[in-house]
Amino acid sequence: MKIQQDVREQIAKAIEPLDTQERRQRYLDGNFDRAYAVSDLDKRYRWDLFWTVRPHLAVSLHGLKDTHIDTVLRKIVAPLERKPLDQVKAEIEAELGIVNEPCKGCGRDDLPLHVDYKCPECHS
Ligand SMILES: [Zn+2]
Repeated sequence: MKIQQDVREQIAKAIEPLDTQERRQRYLDGNFDRAYAVSDLDKRYRWDLFWTVRPHLAVSLHGLKDTHIDTVLRKIVAPLERKPLDQVKAEIEAELGIVNEPCKGCGRDDLPLHVDYKCPECHS
């Protein structure tokens, strides 16, 4: 069974004002109810939005399966954007004031240095 256009538009219109950057960040931070029980964060996010607007929808969702609704929700709610791990690491290091010492030989700063301040490749 296909979800009708007007039902789709109603859901989209109701969810749009709630789908804020602040709320997205809260979910990315795990700062929401029963966050520990989540296996699919994007799915949880869009369904939480749906359950929030559900009582206010003036359309009947009778006979619709969860999979139909989820397909619609997926089109309405973009996935949460996770930062690449390298970026997260760089931000944490910057915050903690950790600066990698560059190698005295080649200047690389992504390798652990020996006591002579040279990387394993320059160290003899
Ligand atoms: Zn080196």
